[in-house]
Amino acid sequence: MNVLDVLKSPASRVPTPLECPLEIVDLPAPDKVLIPLEYPGQILFWPLVQVGDEVACNQVIGRSERNNFIHASISGKVVELKTMWAARSFHVPAVVIEKSDAPPLAGDELLRQCNIDPQSPTRVDLLRAAGVISPWTTPGRDDSEEDMADYPDIQHIVIKGVNQEPTICSFRVLLRTRSKEIQQALVRLSEIVPKARVKLAVSQTDADWAADAFADLAHVVPLPNDFRNRIERQYVRRLTGVKVPNNASYRSGGVAVISVEQLLDMYDALEGRPCILKTVTITSSRDFKPVTVRTAVGTSLGDLLASQGLVVEDGDRVIMGGPMSGTAQFTLDTPLSKFQAGIHVLKAQDIIADVNFICVNCGRCTRACPVNLQIHLIGRCVEFDQLTQAQTYHPEACIDCGLCAYVCPAHRPLLQMVKMASNYRG
Ligand code: SF4
Ligand code: SF4
Repeated sequence: MNVLDVLKSPASRVPTPLECPLEIVDLPAPDKVLIPLEYPGQILFWPLVQVGDEVACNQVIGRSERNNFIHASISGKVVELKTMWAARSFHVPAVVIEKSDAPPLAGDELLRQCNIDPQSPTRVDLLRAAGVISPWTTPGRDDSEEDMADYPDIQHIVIKGVNQEPTICSFRVLLRTRSKEIQQALVRLSEIVPKARVKLAVSQTDADWAADAFADLAHVVPLPNDFRNRIERQYVRRLTGVKVPNNASYRSGGVAVISVEQLLDMYDALEGRPCILKTVTITSSRDFKPVTVRTAVGTSLGDLLASQGLVVEDGDRVIMGGPMSGTAQFTLDTPLSKFQAGIHVLKAQDIIADVNFICVNCGRCTRACPVNLQIHLIGRCVEFDQLTQAQTYHPEACIDCGLCAYVCPAHRPLLQMVKMASNYRG
């Protein structure tokens, strides 16, 4: 099955996950990286370097007010500090580094540069020094750091061994190719949060293998091979039995949800290795074999796609994330941050329409919506600039699955409309 079949699947009107090769291609360090000094909507780093500075790979180049750190993912010279478009269409500050042959920082130096005593680092010290923010301490999109004091202890941990987006395979590929490290990471996890129940969500295809590989370390839960069963908010609720409102963080309900990649990043951090690499699946709607690569954080989309011989032509859309709920990119200079797991190139001939067609009242969007939103009404309110009215239909409950837009015969940008209504602060 190719990518187009996955997205069109007319029989069920629900996309089926793509099967990718179970291997990771390691890319050489790019000649230049652009490191965004931002974690989407949460933590802004202040640069600790200036233009002209020579930096080593793994060197801290930014620090947040909460004492989290971000690192150079290659050795080289800082050639620019500028603002740029990040993957989710925020304009953020960034450090641009051009490659040199200098050796990476290693050993105790990694901790000393963060003013941490290498003789007695705590777990939190190690995570922060490695640029990993633990899910136990990170507030969600509507929570502040102060809210944390009222949160219950972590009772459930759900580890994502499959991606929600049908064209992204990176979590599954990591699960299959780094299973030994994941086993060790699960042991460490049980030491950190001994009372939590750990569930590992895997693809149906991996169920038997995973049950053997992770027996005694996690309760393996296979997710059926269709998109609806992989919508994260839905299956997390099913697996834990905890009803966290869709616009609140899991953490506020005593639940932590991490991907296998974040689990491995935490493990690496506790072993003293900073988080400077990212694993990402690249797909295209035409003539391209899906591939999962590992590359330096800060690699530009242009360099990443060129490394795979994927040519972006006029009219093509490059989507960070997947086609169901990813974000079309404004420029190929956008760098990979720690938060993207997939890139999808939608070729011009596969883009159905650029216009906002009229709603035909078919009701498919509302029937498809897993959280039962009246999306056709929200869409119409947004269309006619009645954003206050749109908010009475609770667009904030949307879980970003993209199904409404996928099934709409008028090809209306419903997810964007729902987001517009949800974000309106009139
Ligand atoms: S409104 Fe659309 S994107 Fe949001 S949950 Fe419903 S179907 Fe999914
Ligand atoms: S699926 Fe599209 S056309 Fe049908 S009711 Fe929803 S918005 Fe209207």
